[in-house]
Amino acid sequence: MSIAIALAGNPNAGKTTLFNELTGARQHVGNYPGVTVEKKQGTCVSEVGTFEIIDLPGTYSLTAYSLEEVVARDYLVNEKPAMIVNIVDASNLERNLYLSVQFMEMGIPVCLALNMMDVAQKRGIEINADRLSELLGVPVVPMVARTGKGKKELLAQVAKAIDKPAAPLLISYGQDIDKTLDEMEKIIRENNFLTDRYPPRWVALKYLENDNQILELGADCSKETAGKLIEIGEKVGRHMSATLDTHPEGMIADQRYGFINSILKQNVVRFAYDRNRLQRSDQIDKVLTNRFLGPLLMVGVLAALFQFTFTYSALPVEWIEGLFGWISGVADAILPDGLLKSMIVSGIIDGVGGVMGFVPLIMFMFLGISFIEDSGYLARMAFMLDRVFRIFGLHGSSVMAFIVSGGIAGGCAVPGVMAARTLKSPKERLATLLTVPFMNCGAKLPVYALLVAAFFPKSQTTVMVILTMISWIGALLVAKLLRSTVIRGESTPFVMELPPYRLPTLKGLWIHTWERTWQYMKKAGTVILGISILLWTMMTFPGLDDKTTAQFESRRTAIIDSVQAEILKEIDTADKDAELSPEARKVKDALAGIDGRKSLTRLENSFAGRIGKALEKISYLAGFDWRTNIALLGGFAAKEVVVSTLGTAYSLGDVDSGSTESLGQRLAKAPGWGPVTAFALMIFTIFYSPCFVTVACIAKETGSWKWAAFSVGFNTALAFALSVLAYQVGSLIVN
Ligand code: GDP
Ligand code: MG
Repeated sequence: MSIAIALAGNPNAGKTTLFNELTGARQHVGNYPGVTVEKKQGTCVSEVGTFEIIDLPGTYSLTAYSLEEVVARDYLVNEKPAMIVNIVDASNLERNLYLSVQFMEMGIPVCLALNMMDVAQKRGIEINADRLSELLGVPVVPMVARTGKGKKELLAQVAKAIDKPAAPLLISYGQDIDKTLDEMEKIIRENNFLTDRYPPRWVALKYLENDNQILELGADCSKETAGKLIEIGEKVGRHMSATLDTHPEGMIADQRYGFINSILKQNVVRFAYDRNRLQRSDQIDKVLTNRFLGPLLMVGVLAALFQFTFTYSALPVEWIEGLFGWISGVADAILPDGLLKSMIVSGIIDGVGGVMGFVPLIMFMFLGISFIEDSGYLARMAFMLDRVFRIFGLHGSSVMAFIVSGGIAGGCAVPGVMAARTLKSPKERLATLLTVPFMNCGAKLPVYALLVAAFFPKSQTTVMVILTMISWIGALLVAKLLRSTVIRGESTPFVMELPPYRLPTLKGLWIHTWERTWQYMKKAGTVILGISILLWTMMTFPGLDDKTTAQFESRRTAIIDSVQAEILKEIDTADKDAELSPEARKVKDALAGIDGRKSLTRLENSFAGRIGKALEKISYLAGFDWRTNIALLGGFAAKEVVVSTLGTAYSLGDVDSGSTESLGQRLAKAPGWGPVTAFALMIFTIFYSPCFVTVACIAKETGSWKWAAFSVGFNTALAFALSVLAYQVGSLIVN
C-alpha cells in the first residue's frame, strides 16, 4: 500500500507546482465529499518509495472560518495522512509559519518544504534551514518548486521522517490559558470527549478559539461535557478581558506569532538589512522626531555642528593664513617692484589665499555634515522640516542644500547647489538651487563681521540673528514666489527613505568630507584664480596719466624738500610709528596721505572705478558710494572679496587718519557711512547675485545658462530693491 502524504500550505506558496513536479501525469482530480472544493490526488514514484499525494486547498489558518480550512483540516483529521508536506513561502516566512505551527499542534508528522528560495534570495533574505529545522524539530528542505530544485532532497527527508511518530507541538499560551487548557484536557480525557478523532489538547484549544465545527461536534457528543468546557472557556475569557484587555483567541494568535518570532530571531533569518536595527531605529525615532522634542533636538544638533566647526577649524585656518602670508612675503621680497609683483601678490596670492583660508572651515563642517548624513539623522531632519518647506513649494530634502549653503551661517553655496541633486522633483530642485545662495555662506561672514563690529558694537549677536532670519525668510518667500510663477507645479509627496540609524565609519566620513572639500578647493584653484587676476586688472588699469603722476610726485618732493634730512632719516630707520618724534610723524602721515590720494585717484580712474562711479548714480538710493560699488563688484567674483576691496578703497586717500586704524574705524568715520548704510549693505550682500562659481554651478546643475543668468539678474534686482527699502526707511527712522 502506498503512503499518503498531504501537501498543504498558504495559497500561492507553490503547492500545485510542487504537486505537478512530484506526480507528473499520474494525477486525477475529484471533489471532496459533499463540497465543491477540488481535490487533486496523484502518485509519486521515486527511488525512496511510492507516495499517494493530496494537494490540499491553500489556507492561512486552521480555524473553521472558510470552507477550505474545514476541508483541509477534516482531511488531516479523518484520513490521517502519514505526513504533511507543508510548503512555505520562504520570502514570507513569518506569516507562512503560522499555519505550520497549527499543523504541528495536531500531532501529524510535518516536513517543511521551504519554497521560493529564489525569491527570498532576490529580496535579500537569507534563511538558515538547518537552524530552523533544529528549532522547530521537523525536517526543513530549501527548494525552488518551479525548477524542481530540492525535490530529491525533499523526498529523501520525507522517507526518512515518515516512520518517526510526532508528538504534538506544545506552545505556551500564557499562564491563564495554559492552566485552563490543562483543566479542559483533563475533563476531555476523562469523558473520552471526541478523543477518537482529535488530540485532547487540540479540542480544548478549539473550544477556546470558539471553533464552530468543533463546538457542534462536541454538542453532539456530550452536551454535559461540552457545557463544562464552554463554561471554563467563558470564565477565563472574562478574567482575561478584565486583567489583560484581551480575549483567548487574540492571546492564542499572539502567542503563536511570538513563538514563531522567537524562532526566527535565533539566527534563522538574516536580512540584507537588519530587521532589529530597523526596530531600534523606530525606537530612536520616537524621541528624535517627536513633535516637540524633535525640533529642539534638531536646533541643538545644528548648534553643535557649528560649534564643532568653528572651534576646531580656528587653528588650521590660522596656519593656512600664515602660510599664504609667508608666501606673499617671500614673493614681495624676491620680485622686483612693478606690475608683475602687484599682480602676483595682490591678485593671485591674496585672492586664492582668501579662498583657501576657508578650506579648514569647510572641511570641518563637511565632516560634521557627513556624520549627520551617514548616521541617518539628516533624513529625519528632512522629514521634520518637510511640513514647513512644503508650504513654500520646497521639499524636506531641500534642507541639506540650505544648511550646506550656510543656513546657520558658514558654509558655501557651491556644494549647496550640488547638494540639491538629492531632490527628485525637477521643480523643487530648481527652486531649491535658486534660493540657497541667499543663505549666509562663509564668505559673507567677514562682511557682516566687519560692519556689525563697526556700526552695531553693542548688539552684535542680535544683528547676526536678524541677518540669519532675514536670509531664511527671504529664501523661503522667494521660493514661494518662484513656485507660484516661473516654476509652478505640484509638490511631490515626501517619499524619502528613513534608513536605520548607523554609526558612520571613519572611512566613509573621510571619503564624503574629502569629495566635498576637493570641489571647493578646485574652485579656489581655477575660477577664483582667474577672477582675482581679472579684478586686479580692472582695479589697476588704465593707470594714471603722466600729468597726474607728476602732480603727486611734485607734492611729495615739496614736502621732502621742506624738512630736514635728519627727520627723513628718522622716518626711514624707525621700526614703529610710536618711536617717531611728533614732527617726524607728521611728515610721515603727510607723505602717506599723498600716496593714499594717489592710489585712490588711480582706483577712481581704473575700469572698476569708472564702473563704480557710473553705478553711484543709482546706488546712492541705497547709500552706496562708488567705493562700495567697487567692493560689491568684486563680491561677484567671490563674496570674501568685498571686505578686501573695501579695505583697499578706504585705506587709500584718507589724509588725516594714521595707518594704524582698522578698516572698521575708517568706515565708521567715513562720510556717508552709518548704521543705516551698513545695514543696507548687509541686506544687499545677503541677496545679490551669487558669486561667479555658484553661478557657474547653477548653470551646470540646471543644464542651462538661462537660470544662471536669471539668478544673477533677479537676485541683484531683488537685493537692490530691498537695500533701497532698508536705507530709505532706516534713514527716516534715524533722522
Ligand atoms: P499554490 O496556490 O500553492 O498551488 O501555488 P502555485 O503552485 O499555483 O504557485 C503560485 C505561483 O508561484 C505560480 O506562478 C508558480 O509558478 C510560482 N512558483 C511556485 N514555486 C516557485 C518557486 O520556487 N520560485 C518562484 N520564483 N516561483 C514559484
Ligand atoms: Mg494551487
